[in-house]
Amino acid sequence: MRSIYSITRKKLEDYFLNNGDKKFRATQIFEWVYRKKIKSFDEISNINKNAISKIKEDFYFNSLKIVRKQEDEGVKKYLFSLSDGNKIESVVMYHDYGISICISSQIGCNMGCAFCESGRLKKVRNLTVDEMLLQVLQAEDDINDRISHIVVMGIGEPFDNYDNVIDFINIANDAYALAIGIRHITVSTSGIVPKINKFAKDCSGVNLAVSLHAPNNEIRDKIMKVNKAYNIEELIESVKNYIKITNRRVTFEYIMLKGINDTETNAYELAKVLKGINCYVNIIPYNETNNIGFKRSNTSQITRFCGILKEENINVTIRREFGSKVSAACGQLRSEN
Ligand code: SAH
Ligand code: SF4
Repeated sequence: MRSIYSITRKKLEDYFLNNGDKKFRATQIFEWVYRKKIKSFDEISNINKNAISKIKEDFYFNSLKIVRKQEDEGVKKYLFSLSDGNKIESVVMYHDYGISICISSQIGCNMGCAFCESGRLKKVRNLTVDEMLLQVLQAEDDINDRISHIVVMGIGEPFDNYDNVIDFINIANDAYALAIGIRHITVSTSGIVPKINKFAKDCSGVNLAVSLHAPNNEIRDKIMKVNKAYNIEELIESVKNYIKITNRRVTFEYIMLKGINDTETNAYELAKVLKGINCYVNIIPYNETNNIGFKRSNTSQITRFCGILKEENINVTIRREFGSKVSAACGQLRSEN
């Protein structure tokens, strides 16, 4: 038995073919599940009874439990409880261009970045495809509106749950399911190089964001354990390869940590590393948390840093701040509460 929300249409087509049925059943089922939003196979009226009893043997409908909902201007944060009692968070954000959701991909995270609240709990397990999809579906139900953009930037390292994330994106993008445009989906990775290379081939329309956070290996080694496995040179090489294959611009995320990575020299170093790459830098003012000692750089320091990048012809934006009052901002999400 598996969740009906865990299977791509292509895999469901194979399921029907293997059971001596027709391929188009998969599309029919998707229309019932994602358009008409049925909650039981008994609600289906255009498929014969035998086929329905077979599906019922193999698939079930499930849902997450909304344990808590917090609101701040333009933001709604959800704490979901999963069927095994684990908890995850997702954040809905209202923009002038639409509504986005930041979803979690794992319970905890094993990457061990020194500055991150989400990673303080070691990975308990990967989220299943349905657990990722249900964050979007149930948030849509709750706000009674359509979510137009997905960012996989909540708790967890998406490329450490690669296959499930790919199937999740496939269903989110499917015209018969959530129909979210591929360019409206963004995946953020801490920099697992082999998976960036694979992602370029598997999922070329999706926006890729890479958490760089340092202009050299010395600093990155100190704040991101992943740099010991894949250093900056290897990471940049894989991003260049990604751009060559996909022809898409990549985002580099850079959190501003006071006294760690925010000097003028660091800005020039960063500009040098990124020179000639089709990218932009998203500067994230660090969100301080009670449990970790890092401090946010001063606003004047952040402005100066961005100014240098601009002078050096690097595209740069400062991330708009969302939801810090309800601890819904980047890096403040947790698996347990
Ligand atoms: N694991 C993935 C995606 C989730 S983290 C990744 O690391 O890219 C999403 C982003 O939030 C990352 O860029 C991460 O470095 C950043 N982040 C983590 N803690 C933060 C904090 N306290 N303040 C601001 N950004 C933070
Ligand atoms: Fe994991 Fe991303 Fe946090 Fe690093 S920043 S610990 S990869 S969630």
